[in-house]
Amino acid sequence: MKSIRALTFDLDNTLWETDLSILKAEDAMAAHLRRLSPPAWMVGFNLDTFRAVRKQVVEEQPAIAHNLTVVRRETLIRWFENHGATKSIAEELASEGVRMFYEERQKVEPYPDTVETLEVLAKTYPLAAITNGNADLMAMPLGQYFQFSLQSQNFPKPKPDPVMFEEALKRLAIQPNECLHIGDDVEHDVIGANRLGIRTVWFNARAHVPENDVPADHTITNLKQLLNILK
Ligand SMILES: [Mg+2]
Repeated sequence: MKSIRALTFDLDNTLWETDLSILKAEDAMAAHLRRLSPPAWMVGFNLDTFRAVRKQVVEEQPAIAHNLTVVRRETLIRWFENHGATKSIAEELASEGVRMFYEERQKVEPYPDTVETLEVLAKTYPLAAITNGNADLMAMPLGQYFQFSLQSQNFPKPKPDPVMFEEALKRLAIQPNECLHIGDDVEHDVIGANRLGIRTVWFNARAHVPENDVPADHTITNLKQLLNILK
């Protein structure tokens, strides 16, 4: 792949396993809110009940769906208001919950190959990140290998919409076919980037057998395999 001039990466489940860090962050948030609230307001609060309220909030306000931080805040406000909190108390508690979740959510554990692969690639290519999540890459040690990280919360639409890919191409000053995008999500990463003519690597981290053809130029099961593809 000689004509590749820059690489863009998805973050969650591409550079690190996300699900566990999210669950830990949800626990930390709930524990923090239990410390701050009257006990009656947290009765029945768990991941299922939180998600049920979140679903309702997103259905009512689809325009905020791409901004997970705003969705979380609005969900917590709704929860506390439903339990008798005044608007301003509900807002205060929601801010605390969001803060704690966000802080814990940044404690991700990169996959074993992530650091050494990025270290090698960053010597040859500018690297950028494009995420639909709220990981703050540039505040993490891994951020040192990247030029920038685009988060969907700062854009009108998340991947697979072209808007973030287009912004990355513009900032990297390259054509679509000079960019290689690496990600685990077939729709968001592979199909989204492919539509613009960006070349793609599907990171099949869990070695799933795909149900349909995945229209990626390459498929890998660990990041290190990128080094061979780019030889
Ligand atoms: Mg992902």
